[in-house]
Amino acid sequence: MVIEVVRIGQRIVRDDRVTTHVALVSRAFGAEKIFMTEVNPEIKGTLEKINKTWGGNFMVEFIDKWKSIIKKKKEENFRIVHLSMYGESINDVQEKLRGEENLLIVVGAEKVPREIYDLADYNVGVGSQPHSEISALAILLDRIQKGKQFEKVFPDAKRKIIPTKTGKNVQVKETRD
Ligand code: SAM
Repeated sequence: MVIEVVRIGQRIVRDDRVTTHVALVSRAFGAEKIFMTEVNPEIKGTLEKINKTWGGNFMVEFIDKWKSIIKKKKEENFRIVHLSMYGESINDVQEKLRGEENLLIVVGAEKVPREIYDLADYNVGVGSQPHSEISALAILLDRIQKGKQFEKVFPDAKRKIIPTKTGKNVQVKETRD
């Protein structure tokens, strides 16, 4: 399954940290790419540094219009999953989502445009209380992949953590740069 994420309409400056965390969760929880609108370009650099150190090829792409990417992905046979506290319960749709081939997950910042609810194939609520796009995304990705995302290998990492009961065990790969 290919999973990509689109983050729409961040509140300029105020949401930089949240947007960075949405991207970090996407990467660490098995998505391959994130599309972003209206963001601080430094976020891309941050994710590139993370890839260099911790491996993999997670991609960040800046876009002007969220609607064009949703339409394009629909043509590429992605199902659109919009995270919203007003949506159907995740408990009721997780099984169906696991059977899909490609997913584009849409997360909002402020109030999202009404149109998204109609463009989405699934409007999914992670509970029906307001919380955060970071938590909603993490739980959705975990429910879809049932923890398998943590077995994913991030190739060409400079650092690799060997999980241990106590302390820290990090394998460091020597490189010339
Ligand atoms: N009041 C805003 C609205 O009506 O769209 C919600 C803004 S919330 C801070 C930002 C994003 O977090 C939402 O667009 C949604 O993607 C996600 N989110 C927050 N709570 C959620 C929940 N219970 N279930 C699913 N997604 C949620």
